[in-house]
Amino acid sequence: MRVEDRLDSGVEAEPNDNEGGRVTSNSGTDFIRELIQSDADHGPYGGRVQTRFPPEPNGFLHIGHAKSICLNFGVAAEHGGRTVLRFDDTNPETEDERYVAAIREDLAWLGFEPSEVVYASDYFDQLHRWAVQLIEQGLAYVDDQDAETISENRGGFTTPGVDSPWRDRSVDENRDLFERMTAGEFGEGQRVLRAKIDMNHENMQMRDPVMYRIRNQHHFRTGDSWVIYPTYDWAHGQSDAIEGTTHSLCTLEFDSHRPLYDWFHGALGLGDDRPRQTEFARLNLTHTVLSKRRLLQLVDDGHVDGWDDARMPTVRGLRRRGYPAQAIRDFCGHIGIARVNGTHEIELLESFVRRQHNATALRRMAVLDPLEVVITNWPDGQTDTREAINNPEDDTAGVREVPFSGRLFIERDDFMLDPPSKFFRLAPGREVRLRAGYFITCNDVETGPDGEVIRLICTYDPETAGGQAPDGRKVKATIHWVAAETALDVKVELYERLFTEALPGADGADPMASLNPDSRLTRTAKAEPALADIAPGEVVQFERLGYFARDLDDDPNTSPTRFHRTVGLRDEWANIQKRQG
Ligand code: ATP
Ligand code: MG
Repeated sequence: MRVEDRLDSGVEAEPNDNEGGRVTSNSGTDFIRELIQSDADHGPYGGRVQTRFPPEPNGFLHIGHAKSICLNFGVAAEHGGRTVLRFDDTNPETEDERYVAAIREDLAWLGFEPSEVVYASDYFDQLHRWAVQLIEQGLAYVDDQDAETISENRGGFTTPGVDSPWRDRSVDENRDLFERMTAGEFGEGQRVLRAKIDMNHENMQMRDPVMYRIRNQHHFRTGDSWVIYPTYDWAHGQSDAIEGTTHSLCTLEFDSHRPLYDWFHGALGLGDDRPRQTEFARLNLTHTVLSKRRLLQLVDDGHVDGWDDARMPTVRGLRRRGYPAQAIRDFCGHIGIARVNGTHEIELLESFVRRQHNATALRRMAVLDPLEVVITNWPDGQTDTREAINNPEDDTAGVREVPFSGRLFIERDDFMLDPPSKFFRLAPGREVRLRAGYFITCNDVETGPDGEVIRLICTYDPETAGGQAPDGRKVKATIHWVAAETALDVKVELYERLFTEALPGADGADPMASLNPDSRLTRTAKAEPALADIAPGEVVQFERLGYFARDLDDDPNTSPTRFHRTVGLRDEWANIQKRQG
């Protein structure tokens, strides 16, 4: 395939077999959109497009789900179609109403509204009737073998399966046993219902797959009405059909289930407008994990505060971190849809986040590691105000007043006692510009008992109020600062990668082995008073330091207490692109 064709068909430019490779970027149309367009033009659906997003309510949505959401809602919207939110609630032991609520909330936050909200459990009666139909057609049977035996007898890729001794039961006996299974006459694991397909099929999924198993479990919606629960394969495609799904989009690992998906529909005699399954690549991101099982482990083992910890790749985590829904959608649109699994750089996602905040975030000054500055020629006890621009990228954002006084804080690493030649910021005898302030010169330093610098003794030049010296003398650096008396103390969480390895768990390693023990660093920062106006969840740029989100759970009626660093200012994605040529 030529490169242009690959791009057109949506296959990523540098595909790689599996988790091993990293993928750069992609945009435009893709093979799913082409398929849907073609089906809309001359397919069996009369121009109708209907997709579904089918989360299992056993955890919270993560950015991988966001990719699926953007795809399912996106393609339907492009055709004026419908997208159903279907809770795939067929495993009662791990599912819960609280996940349902959280998923609905996260979906809404991402900016999508389902045409309808349904549950696979709504279809339990219909699925049961259909199972009886297959029994009557001689296409399903009750098997008395236990799970282990069934699994052993399934055979392997090179060995055929072994027919169950119960495979040739009469229709009447199967119907009777299935009704007794349904009525709760048997214990868990005593019997299952299986489709009767082919124990020698080259596709293992087709070797008489299980349709129902007995689970004496309370279901959060159907209560104790059922003791048999449908498997994924039996529930999924039939739920799609009941809803009128046209395109059932799922991730690549379901590729081998497609023949079974189609077989059930054929066996039930569904018409030409039956749903079709198409697979696309899962989203993988560097330096994190995107599987509910792994995320749960992070929570359970106490490596993070919870599913909504700002380091988590969950929708809730990203939201707390200050990632805008728009940036997540833009990222998903940009990476596109491919048929080959790969891994995207987390820096790419960050560059979408940064791009958006650069355009909209208010600028504020905060000092993370304060070093005191005393200005000896400032009138005693006087506080002045300086005018600072709120957002140079947005003329409508206006200006704010920043208090200035004779006692300030600057960043400790903006000063060096004995600077090397490339260090242009403050040092003894050196003059720098304070952003939106004056030029100051460091004349002396005070040191503590261990020789550490505890205070800088400076003077300011009142003539430099406009940011320039009237005599034209230059300074080589502009630094940020905060006036001491009016400063707010705020807790600031700085984040490093959650996993040190780009591909945690690659080559069969335990992903948890590369968990970064220092992924969070907490500081108490000094901030200018205008920070008090920032609402919970809002993101500001701390000048020179990055973008910071006020914690979502902070009390809106008090001054902010906690900020999360969303992302730094430097665009590492640009460097990665350069390296990758
Ligand atoms: P996990 O493996 O994390 O438990 P899952 O696939 O079991 O995820 P579901 O709640 O069943 O989670 O997923 C709902 C939908 O989201 C499915 O259609 C699934 O294909 C899709 N999805 C899940 N993870 C990803 C991902 N990383 N990239 C793209 N789509 C995903
Ligand atoms: Mg699943």
